[in-house]
Amino acid sequence: MSSIAMLPRRPDEAYIVQPFLSVIVPMYNESEVLATCHERLCDALDQLHRPCEIIYVDDGSADSSWSLAAAFTSPHHTVRAVRLSRNFGKEAAMSAGLAQAAGQAVIIIDADLQDPPELIPEMVSQWQAGFDVVDMQRSKRHGEGWFKRFTAAAFYRVINHISEVDLPANVGDFRLLDQRVVREINQLPERTRFMKGLFAWPGFKRTTLQFERDSRQAGETKWNYRKLMHLAFEGITSFSTRPLRMATVAGAMISVAAIVWAFIVWSKTLLWGDPVAGYPSMMIMMLLMGGIQLLSIGLMGEYIGRLFIEAKQRPLYVVMDESVSVGYEQSRET
Ligand code: UDP
Ligand code: MG
Repeated sequence: MSSIAMLPRRPDEAYIVQPFLSVIVPMYNESEVLATCHERLCDALDQLHRPCEIIYVDDGSADSSWSLAAAFTSPHHTVRAVRLSRNFGKEAAMSAGLAQAAGQAVIIIDADLQDPPELIPEMVSQWQAGFDVVDMQRSKRHGEGWFKRFTAAAFYRVINHISEVDLPANVGDFRLLDQRVVREINQLPERTRFMKGLFAWPGFKRTTLQFERDSRQAGETKWNYRKLMHLAFEGITSFSTRPLRMATVAGAMISVAAIVWAFIVWSKTLLWGDPVAGYPSMMIMMLLMGGIQLLSIGLMGEYIGRLFIEAKQRPLYVVMDESVSVGYEQSRET
């Protein structure tokens, strides 16, 4: 059984109306921006004139993020807070949010206000126009250096070239998903959750909106290059086995070249009786072959490691605490 199915049932499931929209906010040590975030989110949701739900997923914050989020209320919307038992990473936090989201549509948004909540009504109108997924593409990346932009572009080029799913470039986790897409994603059993890929995997009718990504309001990014490298590698190895194929092809090409070369060496020796020579070329070949072999073994190890993690079937996250505050308009309808 998957961890998603084992989640505790929503405490108020029996009496709540289905929210029009669920907004998932994964947060990790975001106490500095959280109040502004909640305010701006509520303002944006009020414009929809429909009962919505906001789900704050506290990814094991060490600051006051949890107590803040658990105390948030809204007159018109349900505010839920889910607290994970430790820091499981944003990918797991989003999965936790998706498992809880009951809305007809679901939006994922960062707590640091880099994704402006003011765009929500526009995303919703695209959804109402019939699209199941609204991807938000960053037209400008404020507060990010050329190196980050360059490596990001390279990553999208590589993964789109070698994997079957189509990852739109410069689309982060900020997006709208119809509930039926969410249902499909919740059923994907993998433990290594490369969410950008999982969001793209179900397909459905998609559209892309452009937006300018702001720089962080406060606090600092939780991503460093080591983590981003890890994420990129995880994305590639969980969505494609092409690297393994490339290792096979490289091996085959080198073998053919070796046979041709052996033939040349052999005929030279027969014709001219070459004395022993060629120490440099032999060293070069040995080192080159050794390198390629180690690389291929390491690559295989990466995939076997993935299998190992999947085989253990550990839950993606552990929920430690939950809190719900139902907006009065919704409780009145019960
Ligand atoms: N986040 C999280 N768990 C983590 C790291 C980050 O839930 O382990 C949240 C974080 O609080 C923020 C969002 O994920 O709401 C994006 O994180 P961040 O701003 O650090 O990433 P960036 O915007 O630099 O890509
Ligand atoms: Mg951010």
